[in-house]
Amino acid sequence: MSLLAHLLLKQSRLQPARGAIFHGDAQHASHAQWAARSAGAAQRLRDAGLAPGERVVLFMRNHPRYLELLWAAWWAGLVVVPVNAKLHPREVEWIIADAQARWAFVTPDVAPGPLAGLQRQVDAESAEADALLAPVADAAAVPIAERGPDHTAWLFYTSGTTGRPKGVMITQRNLMTMGLTYFADVDAVSRDDAIVYAAPMSHGAGLYAIPHLVAGARHVVPASGGVDPAELFALGLAHGPLSTFAAPTIVKRLVDHAHQHGLGPAEAARSFKTIVYGGAPMYVADIQRALAVMGPRFVQIYGQGETPMVATALARHHLADAAHPRHLERLGSVGVAQTPVRIRIADGQGCELPVGEVGEVLVRGDSVMAGYWRNPEATAAAIRDGWLFTGDVGCLDADGFLTLKDRSKDLIISGGSNIYPREVEEVLLTAPGVAEAAVVGASDAEWGEVVVAFVVAQPGATPTPESLDAHCLAQMARFKRPKRYLIVEALPKNNYGKVLKTALRERLAGS
Ligand code: AMP
Repeated sequence: MSLLAHLLLKQSRLQPARGAIFHGDAQHASHAQWAARSAGAAQRLRDAGLAPGERVVLFMRNHPRYLELLWAAWWAGLVVVPVNAKLHPREVEWIIADAQARWAFVTPDVAPGPLAGLQRQVDAESAEADALLAPVADAAAVPIAERGPDHTAWLFYTSGTTGRPKGVMITQRNLMTMGLTYFADVDAVSRDDAIVYAAPMSHGAGLYAIPHLVAGARHVVPASGGVDPAELFALGLAHGPLSTFAAPTIVKRLVDHAHQHGLGPAEAARSFKTIVYGGAPMYVADIQRALAVMGPRFVQIYGQGETPMVATALARHHLADAAHPRHLERLGSVGVAQTPVRIRIADGQGCELPVGEVGEVLVRGDSVMAGYWRNPEATAAAIRDGWLFTGDVGCLDADGFLTLKDRSKDLIISGGSNIYPREVEEVLLTAPGVAEAAVVGASDAEWGEVVVAFVVAQPGATPTPESLDAHCLAQMARFKRPKRYLIVEALPKNNYGKVLKTALRERLAGS
C-alpha cells in the first residue's frame, strides 16, 4: 500500500486530537480531521473514476488544503503533479497535456480562469472542494491504494531553463528516502516541533511535509500564503520555534528583517529552530552575515528535482566550526553526501576524476528519480550505469565536501580561459554597498565572451562601476574581473528563488 498515505493514517491513530495543520495562528485540522478529509476526498476521487497511477495537478499558492489534497491523492494512489504557482496558464496547459492529467486543483489567485485540457478544475477554496474534502466518519475504513515503492508519487516538472520542462518521476521510495534522510542529515524532529511553509509547496518546501508527518509534528501555512518576514517571525512566537526550507533569497530577507528590527540570535531562536537553505547558491558573505545575525540555526542542502532535497548537506556543526582550518572553504561548499547517496565527479565521458578536479556532479542512491515521464531518451542521457548526471559542475575535497561551480551553461569562456561566475559573485558581494550580484557572459568579438556583472545596491548605498572595479582588481585575477558593471534595481528570479541568468543574457543581447 502507499506508505506515504499510511503515514497520515498512523498519526491520526497515534495523536488524533493534536493540532496538525495551522493556517496562520488558527488551527485548520487535527491529525484525525486531516486523515478524515483526505480519506474522504480519496474515496470521492476514486468514485469519480480516477484510477491509481492517474495524474492530478496541484496549481495552488501555499494553502492548508495543499496538504489535505496531497495526502488525498496519495491515499487514492494518484500521482501528484505540483505546478509552480508563478507559471503562465499556457505553460501550465503544456504540463497538463504532457502529464495527461484530467483533474486539477487550483487556487483562484493563481488560476483565475479555466485551464484548457482538463475534465475538471476544482477551486480549492470553493464549496465544491468542501464537499470533496468532507470528512468521513472512519478514515481507516477507506482503503489506501496499493502502491509499491517503485510507483510514481510526485511528477515534478523541471523549471525548463534549458528547453521544454521535463516530468521527473519521483517514486514512493524516493520520497520515503528523502523523508527519513532529513533525520539523518538535516535535523532531529519531535512531535512538539512545527514546520512553516514559506517557500512554494510545489517544490522542496512542500516535500518536507513528509519528515514532519513522520515525526507527528505540526504544519503551519502562513495566512499570507507567501514570504513575509514579519509574519514568519511572529508565527514562530505563536507556535514555538519553526523549521522551514528557504531559498537563499528568502534567507536574505529574514536576515535583513532581523537586522532592521534589531533582532539578534536570541530573538531569532525564539522564532526559528532550523532554517534549511538550498536550491540556489548561498554566497559565503551571505551565510556569514546570516549566522552572525540569526545564530546557528542553518543547515544547507543541495539537491535537484531529479534527486529531491538529497545530494549533499552542510550540517549545523560544520557551519559553526569556525576554528576549522578550511572553515571558509566549507562555508562556500554544499557539504558532504547525504546518507543514502554517493557523489562522484566525472569527466565528459563519465569517468571518475580525482579529488580536487572539476567536473560534472554525479549522484547515485535511493533518492534518484525513476526517470523522465514518457521521455526515455532524456532518461538514458541523465542516468547512466545507475548514476544521475546532474548537469552541475563542481569538485570534491579530500574530506568529501562538494563545492559547486556553476552549471556548465553558465560557465564563461573569455579569451580561452574558464571563468566561473560564482567566484566573481562571491567577490562582488564583499564590496561595500553591494546587496546582490549576478555575473553572466556577453558575447564579444575579441574575447569570445566578456564578464558582465549585474549589481543590486544595499538600501542607501551607491556603489559605482569604478568602486566595484577597484574592489575586484584588489581581489581577483585581472582576466576574471567584469568588463561591465550594471547597477540594477533587482535581479530577475523565478518562484523558487533562482536568478534567471538566461533573462540577464537576453537583456544584454537586446541592449
Ligand atoms: P531544482 O531542480 O529546481 O530543485 O534545481 C536544482 C538545481 O539548483 C541544482 O541542480 C543546482 O544547480 C541548484 N542548487 C540546488 N541546491 C543548491 C545549493 N545548495 N547550492 C547551489 N546550487 C544549488
